[in-house]
Amino acid sequence: MSKEDILNGSVQYIKAVGPKRAEAFNKVGIKTIKDLLFYFPVRHIDRTNILSASKAYDYVLNGYDGELTIIGKVIKKDHRRFGKREILKVHFRDESGFFECVWFQSAKYFINVFNEGNIFAVSGKPTTSKYGNLQFAHPDFDRITEDESKSFLNTGKIIPIYRIPKELRSKNIGDFSLRKIINNAVENYAEQLEENLPDYIASDNNLPDIKESVINYHFPLSKEKLAEAKRRFKFEELFYLEILVALRKKQYKSKLTGHSLSIKTHLVKDFLKTLPFELTKAQLKVLSEIKNDMMSDVPMNRLLQGDVGSGKTIVALIAMLIAVDNGFQAAIMAPTEVLADQHAKNISNYMKKLKELTHREIKVSLLIGGQKKSLRNKNLEDIELKEADIIVGTHALFEEKVRFSNLGLIVIDEQHRFGVAQRGKLQAKGITPDVIVMSATPIPRTLTMTVYGDLDLSIIDEMPSNRKPVKTILRGEDKLPDILKFIKDKSKEGYQSFIVYPLVEESELLELKDALSYYEMLRSTYLKNLRVGLVHGRMSWQEKEEAMLLFRKKQFDVLIATTVIEVGIDIPDANIILINDANRFGLSQLHQLRGRVGRGNKQAFCILVTKEEIAKRSEKENKELEFMSSSEIEKQKAAIRLQSMVKYNDGFKIAEIDLKLRGPGDIFGLRQSGFPEFKYADIITDSKLILQAKQEAFKIIDEDPELKLPDNQSIKKILTKNYSDNLRYSGIA
Ligand code: ADP
Ligand code: MG
Repeated sequence: MSKEDILNGSVQYIKAVGPKRAEAFNKVGIKTIKDLLFYFPVRHIDRTNILSASKAYDYVLNGYDGELTIIGKVIKKDHRRFGKREILKVHFRDESGFFECVWFQSAKYFINVFNEGNIFAVSGKPTTSKYGNLQFAHPDFDRITEDESKSFLNTGKIIPIYRIPKELRSKNIGDFSLRKIINNAVENYAEQLEENLPDYIASDNNLPDIKESVINYHFPLSKEKLAEAKRRFKFEELFYLEILVALRKKQYKSKLTGHSLSIKTHLVKDFLKTLPFELTKAQLKVLSEIKNDMMSDVPMNRLLQGDVGSGKTIVALIAMLIAVDNGFQAAIMAPTEVLADQHAKNISNYMKKLKELTHREIKVSLLIGGQKKSLRNKNLEDIELKEADIIVGTHALFEEKVRFSNLGLIVIDEQHRFGVAQRGKLQAKGITPDVIVMSATPIPRTLTMTVYGDLDLSIIDEMPSNRKPVKTILRGEDKLPDILKFIKDKSKEGYQSFIVYPLVEESELLELKDALSYYEMLRSTYLKNLRVGLVHGRMSWQEKEEAMLLFRKKQFDVLIATTVIEVGIDIPDANIILINDANRFGLSQLHQLRGRVGRGNKQAFCILVTKEEIAKRSEKENKELEFMSSSEIEKQKAAIRLQSMVKYNDGFKIAEIDLKLRGPGDIFGLRQSGFPEFKYADIITDSKLILQAKQEAFKIIDEDPELKLPDNQSIKKILTKNYSDNLRYSGIA
């Protein structure tokens, strides 16, 4: 039998498992011996502090309340019954003194475990009994025999603590027995594990081999060994992820040929003349990066990052015009119909002005799900016949029916809403068109590097100069009348306001404010005499469009809304946003909402309204996050989020705090956005290791893009075995 076959054998071969327990293991996904070897503990407890009984007694008298271990001999057992309750007390001694252990449960079982004269190591948090004796209640223990080294499993060492699913518990597998089972597996089978990393990678990066790492991850000889073992598995995980990213990038750059464009006419120059503003330095910088890519015959694959309101759309539009100028179609895809519609209208307006100047017509076509069939068919025809130059749409653009006649550029707006797979699908529609993905979500650099490592990065790190930072204010609900009066007063100066509610309709379950009831209420009370509109997610797309349009045309002073306005909506005269129940929104969501205002040159306001306690607490507890314990953070998350909004306008800072508050597993709904989930690595704390793994991986793929070198055969083998699904776009499989 090969080593692989042995490791793939059933867990049933492990001592102390048996068929019933094996079934339970299977249920929780632990089928093979190998699965068991990689069922790593969630944490460890350090029980290396072995003391004599008298020393331990000193510790306790001096108020020590941690774990410690004593080794002693059983001298007497005391089994008592009080009605239905039974208590077992076992008395021990060592050379220095006495101690005792008590069990209030399963006394009948433990009475047979502790026989007089036997030696045990006992670990736990000791106290003093009411008679002043050193006492452990329900301690962990090991029987110590002549051969000591083998006997320490639950005490005396750094002890693994495993998560024990209820399926295992119900088969009487607890901490002791699982530790024993895994110890059996490690002792007998870790030897069979085959190395997953090329030797030179392991030694260059000071990583222990796989056998040693598995052993030390479970039963570490020291804290250092444990740390090394963890580091090794993190590295391995990151390394293969980066190999895949590097392969994808290489494939895109070297295997596929793109269109090599040039500046044909004055189109772009003329377009710039029609703009009512100058582009910022940052916009010009990213434009030149984009232009260079488009001029080269290597297809562009670029991530355009910029905070909300930094002016990404205009940059994308200029890129689209370059494509159009070269006889290609350009498409822009937005995550919602409302946003697609807004893009289409904006772009059409820009194109009208351009036509006035140049007499050249650039045709814009909109493709979204909710359109009338006849209009849709006409648009589809336009696209196919190249009647349309710029196509705006939602994911409707992915559909089979859409046949571009000559797609040269795809722009994907608000990328975090789209997965990698969707990206691939749209790319497949053109002959390797250039791609720009735009994101306002300020993804921390480490994440960008890992997941978007196949994309080149352009950052707009500057706001248009006419902007004043939005003033963010946090208020208790008791202040609402004043705030509404403020909105009313400001409307006389031409300010438009959003008022956001977390719910569409009143809910019996949630005590949150809803847009519908407040729309009715505010119109007849506080906002009487103002023109008030309503937009929410349950409206049909035409109704939403109508509401947004009227607001944009200044037919409304106030727009009552749910989070449908969250992404991308651009209304230059909207300068106040009031967010109700603000504690219920996530941090990046709040930042996106705030981004809806402050797009013109007037001072804008973002007013966060929440329960008075929360508003007050955050004023008081103005501590830096670094100095708070995790339990403190947990309790005050809502207040911290709101306070951070008041303090910071910068999206990157907000994202960083968001990451700290939410923890890596949960950033911006990672799963839906196509981010990988790590088993070992932590996107925040392991950023150095991520960089290291990335450098190694990219170097390898740079030097050996098809993994042909003998040294790299193990990489190729692992990829085809474990990552076959991901190899589709890699050029390896
Ligand atoms: P985002 O990057 O969030 O998508 P938009 O592209 O919607 O931002 O731009 C926000 C607003 O700023 C728009 O109204 C746009 O016309 C305007 N804008 C873009 N660039 C500039 C600039 N250089 N100077 C002034 N206003 C600009
Ligand atoms: Mg945008």
